[in-house]
Amino acid sequence: MRPVGNSRPPARCDVAVVGAGILGLAVARELVRRRPAASVCVLEREQGIAAHQSSHNSGVIHAGIYYAPGSLKARLCVAGANQLYAYCEQRGIPYARCGKLIVAVKNSELAGLDELERRGRANGVAGLRRVDAAGMRKIEPHCRGVAGLHSPNTGVVDFAVVAAAFAEDLLQAGGTLVTACQVHGVQGATRSVRLKHAHGVTEATHAIFCGGAWADRLAVLGGADPDPRIVPFRGAYLRLVPARAALVRALIYPVPDPSLPFLGVHLTRHIDGGVTLGPSALPAGARDAYRLSTVRARDLRETLTWPGSWRMARHFWRHGLTEIRHAALPGSMVHAAGVYIPELGLRDAQPAFAGVRAQAVDRRGRLLDDFAFSITGRALHVRNAPSPGASASLAVAGHIVDQAAQAFAW
Ligand SMILES: Cc1cc2nc3c(=O)[nH]c(=O)nc-3n(C[C@H](O)[C@H](O)[C@H](O)COP(=O)(O)OP(=O)(O)OC[C@H]3O[C@@H](n4cnc5c(N)ncnc54)[C@H](O)[C@@H]3O)c2cc1C
Repeated sequence: MRPVGNSRPPARCDVAVVGAGILGLAVARELVRRRPAASVCVLEREQGIAAHQSSHNSGVIHAGIYYAPGSLKARLCVAGANQLYAYCEQRGIPYARCGKLIVAVKNSELAGLDELERRGRANGVAGLRRVDAAGMRKIEPHCRGVAGLHSPNTGVVDFAVVAAAFAEDLLQAGGTLVTACQVHGVQGATRSVRLKHAHGVTEATHAIFCGGAWADRLAVLGGADPDPRIVPFRGAYLRLVPARAALVRALIYPVPDPSLPFLGVHLTRHIDGGVTLGPSALPAGARDAYRLSTVRARDLRETLTWPGSWRMARHFWRHGLTEIRHAALPGSMVHAAGVYIPELGLRDAQPAFAGVRAQAVDRRGRLLDDFAFSITGRALHVRNAPSPGASASLAVAGHIVDQAAQAFAW
């Protein structure tokens, strides 16, 4: 967590952005670039920026393979990844375009691999290549499977470093960033949005909410539809011990279950050289459940009283059992990764960190797959921005500012 914040909140501004995760900061940066005369202020509840999802993730710059052609995720991920590589290059942010191998370990997964290849090509992902078992071993010598899909344009970066660079750009352009400033009231008026926060009130002509795991709560405060609700999913990682990190050169992913928005337990060589495996995907007792034992009464109540949570549980109970096993027995996640790297043993991995996904679930129990936004009065709300939200952040910011410009006649 990086403690930055240059100011106290202003009494008035043209645009307030709530949330200083990678998306809020990318949006604020885009706003000051496009509207240099406007006063832009970011309000963040934590002591530092990027304290939640934006610093607790796999660190993978997704190339855009998985997403339904024509979806926002497909379009914004492909464009956003390219923009992000160019940005890292220009700002001197360390990244590696290391490539990724998606591996089918049995013939029954080949249809899934075909579908991923079809989607990737339809989405315009550059350099995709099918490889057989021998071809896979050239890319990842310790990996086993019947066939793979190689994406040379997938990479890794530390998204917290990217978010910090966005914050610097914002401050340099004259924007305001206030940390330790939780917004707890949103009142729409004819000419402004009144934001009540830890330091008083800021009256903004327009507001853009990028609240991550708290997005639904902020939307409801502002008078928006309570559907969808955020259901937090905890994702725990293990780290390979340094002596065994050479088992993985870059990124090894399974063929994902198409009914879920999560990509499955994968092996990731991060930009710092460490290799993690994970994440799990277990509904959590708190929106900041970095520890399994963290439970917050309000968060739990909001999950349990949402009809969609129960419908989701009925539909996905089998997956739920696997995830409970992953959470309770770290060896179970090593076993899942061992399908791809048979040499992996139980002693090769140790507990690492966890992240909490802000996953929107609608009243009918469907996990929203695509990015989702809504507009109420003078406010735009990000309602669902899960992975690849960090990879796509620059393009998502462009999309949000386009939508706001159209809705608010900027
Ligand atoms: C386990 C995991 C793995 C992932 N892996 C990847 C990956 O490899 N690649 C990828 O592209 N994406 C990945 N993602 C997704 C990616 O991290 C998110 O899409 C992205 O970080 C979303 O950014 P955000 O700014 O919307 O949310 P966040 O980073 O969560 O930021 C939201 C901010 O809003 C603030 N906030 C909330 N409420 C208030 C309030 N009332 N007042 C003021 N501030 C408030 C919060 O404190 C927080 O700082 C992963 C996510 C997780 C959890």
